[in-house]
Amino acid sequence: MSNLNELSITEASKKLAAGEVTSLQLTEACLAEIEKRNGSLNAYLEVFADAREQAKAADSRRAAGESHPLLGIPLAVKDNILIEGRTASAASKMLEHYVATYDATAIKKLKEAGVVFLGRTNMDEFAMGGSNENSAFGPAKNPHDESRVTGGSSGGSAAVVAAHMALGALGSDTGGSVREPAAFCGVVGFKPTYGAVSRSGLMAMGSSLDQIGPLTKTVADAELLFNAICGVDPLDSTTVQLPAAKADNKKIGVPRALLAQGIEPEVLAQFDQALKKLQMQGYEIVDISLPSAGLALAVYYIIMPAESSTNLARFDGVRYGLSIKGETLLDDYATSRGEGFGPEVRRRIMLGTYVLSAGYYDAYFGKATAAREVLRKEFSAALAEVSAIATPTAPFPAWKIGEKSDPLSAYLADIFTVTANLTGNPAVSVPMGTVARDGADLPVGIQLTAAHGDEATLFSIGKALE
Ligand code: GLN
Repeated sequence: MSNLNELSITEASKKLAAGEVTSLQLTEACLAEIEKRNGSLNAYLEVFADAREQAKAADSRRAAGESHPLLGIPLAVKDNILIEGRTASAASKMLEHYVATYDATAIKKLKEAGVVFLGRTNMDEFAMGGSNENSAFGPAKNPHDESRVTGGSSGGSAAVVAAHMALGALGSDTGGSVREPAAFCGVVGFKPTYGAVSRSGLMAMGSSLDQIGPLTKTVADAELLFNAICGVDPLDSTTVQLPAAKADNKKIGVPRALLAQGIEPEVLAQFDQALKKLQMQGYEIVDISLPSAGLALAVYYIIMPAESSTNLARFDGVRYGLSIKGETLLDDYATSRGEGFGPEVRRRIMLGTYVLSAGYYDAYFGKATAAREVLRKEFSAALAEVSAIATPTAPFPAWKIGEKSDPLSAYLADIFTVTANLTGNPAVSVPMGTVARDGADLPVGIQLTAAHGDEATLFSIGKALE
């Protein structure tokens, strides 16, 4: 048998049900791998000291007759999702010692299912970034080449799954933060339809964009985790009961014109290979046009900072986290925020405040909101004709740590992922092979986007790709 930590959730679940393994054995196997690799990968910010106790409790629940498919499965959680009584820092100095006072709804559901929480994973500070380099606690490193980034912002979650230090993980996705690190680390990353999963207990970044999503080794695992965390929640009024949609054709649309924009040739070659594979499984690949999709990045980098700057106003040195006293109350705010937030977070707060200011609101925020509507319409029109839209997840593989010091060049990595957050559609990244760089094989991913509520189609196309 392979090492227990290398099992998928689905495989481990079967073995647990058959009595072939215990949760304690699975947990021990993950902890042993963490012991070996986390020191250099920096993927967990904290490994929970009571993981074994949690596993024993899960084993007792099973012995008492319980049987949920996630009972006893060891998972990791991004550091911006609250677990009652545990630190949740969002990889920020601001919240370094903040202890969560309640469970996120997704966590509550996983606790009921009997999941074992191994630890909290590294991320870009407050989920702002696509490489994990913005963590206040140092970047997580890519298990395929430790000189490279994991992607982000859920980079720690992607790395722990890729390096078998957990069977699966939760991340959050505001503009690609589950899908892009999944692509860079060679795992599956799934962003649900907006409103499918409660945001209660997820630290808010861009409230109209954020969703919690799973990072897993297989598409079946992503489906299993998604089904466990989705559902209407009275604590999040934007949650909705999704229609059980399922596309009725096997057409996949490719926006070729959009792909002319700066994709590395080897990534494009892997993408075309993945499309061929789908064709062989009976899918028809058709060209589609999404004329405004090229604007998505500009729209996102107005709406996201606007919402982030508003959400981060609560960190004022009084209510949560870091508090540094100055001469006056205004000093308290300025010093606490100045010391607590890293450079990328401060940049976005300033950008967001600017685009929302009275003189510029109409020129920026108003225009971006109108453009977002156009994008929504273009996506719905396209998805009335095809069952999914395919693009590479990112235009290039993981870059070297420190290579993209200009923030704008890092933002370009998000060109294909931000649209699904702006339109609310579900999207998944599935591994599509590797490209060679400096002697390492770096994973790349294909992204599929479906109609609102049609996660089922994404899962079935994703499985066809595996
Ligand atoms: N990389 C994107 C950004 O920097 C996405 C972040 C996210 O999804 N949380 O905003």
